[in-house]
Amino acid sequence: MPARQPGDVTVVGAGLIGLFSAHYLLERGYDVTLLDAAGAGGGAARVNGGWVCPARSDPLPSWGVVRDGLRSLVRPDDGSFFLGARALPHVAGYLGRFVLSSGRRRFERSWDELDVLNRQTARLVDELVGAGIVVGLQDEGFLMLHPTRARAEASRAALLAVSRRGLSPAPERVLGREELLELEPGLGERARFGFVHRGDRWLDPSRLVDRLVESALSRGAHLVTQAPVRAVRQRGSRVELATPAGVRGAGRVVIAAGAWSERLLRPLGVRGYVTPGKGYSFTVRPEHPPRHVLRLGDTHIGVTPMGDRTRLVGLVELDGTREGVHAQRIALMRRQAAPYLTGIDWDASTDVAVGPRPMTPDGKPLIGCVPGAERIVVATGHNMLGLSLGAATGRLVADLVAHGAAAGVPAFDPMRFTRRRGW
Ligand SMILES: Cc1cc2nc3c(=O)[nH]c(=O)nc-3n(C[C@H](O)[C@H](O)[C@H](O)COP(=O)(O)OP(=O)(O)OC[C@H]3O[C@@H](n4cnc5c(N)ncnc54)[C@H](O)[C@@H]3O)c2cc1C
Repeated sequence: MPARQPGDVTVVGAGLIGLFSAHYLLERGYDVTLLDAAGAGGGAARVNGGWVCPARSDPLPSWGVVRDGLRSLVRPDDGSFFLGARALPHVAGYLGRFVLSSGRRRFERSWDELDVLNRQTARLVDELVGAGIVVGLQDEGFLMLHPTRARAEASRAALLAVSRRGLSPAPERVLGREELLELEPGLGERARFGFVHRGDRWLDPSRLVDRLVESALSRGAHLVTQAPVRAVRQRGSRVELATPAGVRGAGRVVIAAGAWSERLLRPLGVRGYVTPGKGYSFTVRPEHPPRHVLRLGDTHIGVTPMGDRTRLVGLVELDGTREGVHAQRIALMRRQAAPYLTGIDWDASTDVAVGPRPMTPDGKPLIGCVPGAERIVVATGHNMLGLSLGAATGRLVADLVAHGAAAGVPAFDPMRFTRRRGW
């Protein structure tokens, strides 16, 4: 495909996807401006778990999650996937399609499709390490912890299946409590069995955001903060962006506004059902800081070592909002995590935050050109995987800007929910 002459591109949203897109557009010689409603990394980018995990990048919709969501309506003080009853009218369209995507066959197919991006992740991240953009990448492995041997073996069997996809080495053997304590002396009494799984890596996402910004600015990009974009439309060979400061023009536009994207997409005729799924995050300072990422068995809570801090992340809350910490969710995370960890003053937790994950009904991102307005590229809906899939997405966005819709991947077609009425 012949590439177009590089011109100017405005990227709406300086979160992970916008920043990775800017990186690859700059590499191709485009003149890049980033506009962000808040500041760089103002959405979910800085508060996330920091996992770059191609081996763990399966789509969210599955019967287990559906069960968890229904249970949370009855028992709101338990589980990991929460539906706010009052938000149901706002999220019904998303939920209906989510349930339809949760069957085994759809799940497997979506996972195969996500692997198109997953398979590029390790190489692209290594290149970014070489370029000095990704710093502090850790690879000591993920330690999967369980209260019983049976659960540890079942979780290991699931990861063995993942390793057969060629995205990670096979998980190591299941260890008992004594061996686990040799690896991680700060484990609590519920961590009785576990095993190490290598292949996935992690970093401090806030540092990554800062490095991506520094690198983009040093190559001539412009970043405008406190600049919300209200609407985008193509007029002939230019694109107009409505902002509170007036209308701006651009040769091409990338919409990468994360969980805020839907309101920019709808007027363009794209119905993506991008829905905010709030995730919680806070910092603790354990007496024995972990060296591995810890997965706390039945809780869906992840624990990430980040220098002298340790970050806990977890939960998906669909309450129709993008912000607002509910104290009972933090209390629930502490209650669920406490039996797995010792030497933590939970009342001294800091950096309590939520981030809105841009959720899509089938767990796959929306990446592609807007039909009839090919100068506008959509790159959003990365669910729980925006960091893992960010580099591969950024490269695909640069391809779409350079070559148009023909460079798209059908599985990520932003029109897939719009076209199939009654999906
Ligand atoms: C607790 C938690 C843990 C997570 N852990 C991981 C993990 O370990 N690994 C992983 O891969 N993913 C993880 N994720 C998911 C990941 O953070 C998201 O998928 C990712 O941030 C999505 O990137 P994005 O650029 O689409 O959106 P965001 O990073 O949210 O960025 C969107 C940006 O757009 C801006 N914006 C919004 N509206 C406008 C507008 N109208 N005009 C201009 N700018 C606008 C916002 O201010 C924001 O800066 C986690 C998320 C959470 C919440």
